[in-house]
Amino acid sequence: MKRMRNVKIVATLGPASDDYDMIRALHEAGADVFRLNMSHGSHDEIAKKHAIIRQVEQDTGSSIAILADLQGPKLRVGVFAGDSEMLEEGAKFRLDLDTADGDSSRVCLPHPEIFAALEVGKSLLVNDGKIRLQVEDCGPDYANCVVIAGGVISNRKGVNVPDVELPLAALSEKDRADLEFTAKLGVDWMALSFVQRPADVEEARQLVKGRAAILSKIEKPNAVERFDAILAASDGIMVARGDLGVELPVQNVPPIQKRLVRKCRNAAKPVIVATQMLESMIESPMPTRAEVSDVATAIYEGADAVMLSAESAAGSYPIEAVTTMDRVAAEVEQDPTYTQIIEASRTANRGSVADGIVAAAREIAETTNIKAICCFTQSGTTALLVSRERPRVPIIALTPLSGTARRLALSWGCYCVITPTMDRFKGAVVSAAKAALEGGFGTVEDQIVVTAGVPFNVTGTTNILRVAPCDERLIFATDPE
Ligand code: ATP
Ligand code: MG
Ligand code: MG
Repeated sequence: MKRMRNVKIVATLGPASDDYDMIRALHEAGADVFRLNMSHGSHDEIAKKHAIIRQVEQDTGSSIAILADLQGPKLRVGVFAGDSEMLEEGAKFRLDLDTADGDSSRVCLPHPEIFAALEVGKSLLVNDGKIRLQVEDCGPDYANCVVIAGGVISNRKGVNVPDVELPLAALSEKDRADLEFTAKLGVDWMALSFVQRPADVEEARQLVKGRAAILSKIEKPNAVERFDAILAASDGIMVARGDLGVELPVQNVPPIQKRLVRKCRNAAKPVIVATQMLESMIESPMPTRAEVSDVATAIYEGADAVMLSAESAAGSYPIEAVTTMDRVAAEVEQDPTYTQIIEASRTANRGSVADGIVAAAREIAETTNIKAICCFTQSGTTALLVSRERPRVPIIALTPLSGTARRLALSWGCYCVITPTMDRFKGAVVSAAKAALEGGFGTVEDQIVVTAGVPFNVTGTTNILRVAPCDERLIFATDPE
């Protein structure tokens, strides 16, 4: 689907967005990538949403990425008899190993390793730090707490114990089962939560076996320290600000976000800025000014994608939230200051022929009246390199592989078209021109830049740059085979 913006929108699906009409409406409103959070929902529910997304994809003719987000070693409370409870400041609240439904006095925290590590005076943070509990008394199977900061606690909310070191494996048994299940189902991105070291990414990669690209969620202080090595091991990154802002002081998050976004662009790997972007829209059709500003800031920084969590999964206004992001993005990208910032931070280290070709494609496109950069890509790498250039003209990525097109749905500016396998450059130019015309990027009077590699269909061979007319007859008249 053609958009009026380059930055992409990721929408988490949940109970507020689980039928065909809603998922299609979210896509039409602007969602390019759908996130399935493996922390919530059964395999049956996940499979149902997956099938609906693929149906929407077919019915709209778009390439849509599906991102499966593995829970990772995240600590969560159990469920409540009434689904949620209000915890008042100063009240007592008990966490224990009893699997019975919770109430206003207690809930299950099914992690014996936390009780083993807790001490009197330590803090537990619930729901991205919105609720703070302090331990008054604890044993091997319980902790009696006092509520320091109150709020509504509901089923399976996350718990952080930032000042306690917990011995946790990167992938739990549940994660391994979820990974295999979603890889078989066919997802495009596999997101790993609480990555701490490059070895965590490598472990997942061995299990994924090329069936999906791997996205590391940065939400631990360790991961920030080892970011360069984690980025090198990953295909993409999520700045997961929810847990990051609990594990580190919140004021540390904005500079980290800026640094990570910049490094990802440098490495030509997509980066998502996530969590609480339009939080108030869970309950309100209007965002706060601060939230609008937060979304805009991520875009000015050069993020590939911005994400909705509970706003689209469990909120009352999923479509309004996507529409808000879409409008903010369109506005920011029209701002000459945005272009200045993005172009001033173009710091590619160009080490290959493909790097040089895409840079030249951008310069040619921008110095003359050219309507699009059309790049043929197998693995998606050439499209990622063009995307890193952040050109002023649209990027059309042409590929015979639907998996490549879907993965690129997360990357800045990539509009993907599936073409038959090419064996002649002339045929490739013709299909690029068609894609530009059909996508409404130009008319037969216009020109495009085409990049490709000969021999065709070999990964990593981009070596041709051609300025071509959109008019097929002219291509036939002028081009050699
Ligand atoms: P993470 O740390 O991985 O982001 P999370 O619990 O914060 O996990 P999100 O997907 O970011 O989950 O937020 C969505 C919120 O919507 C959840 O906290 C949860 O309360 C609610 N929700 C309920 N059911 C679902 C579901 N099936 N999928 C996603 N979210 C759900
Ligand atoms: Mg998280
Ligand atoms: Mg979250």
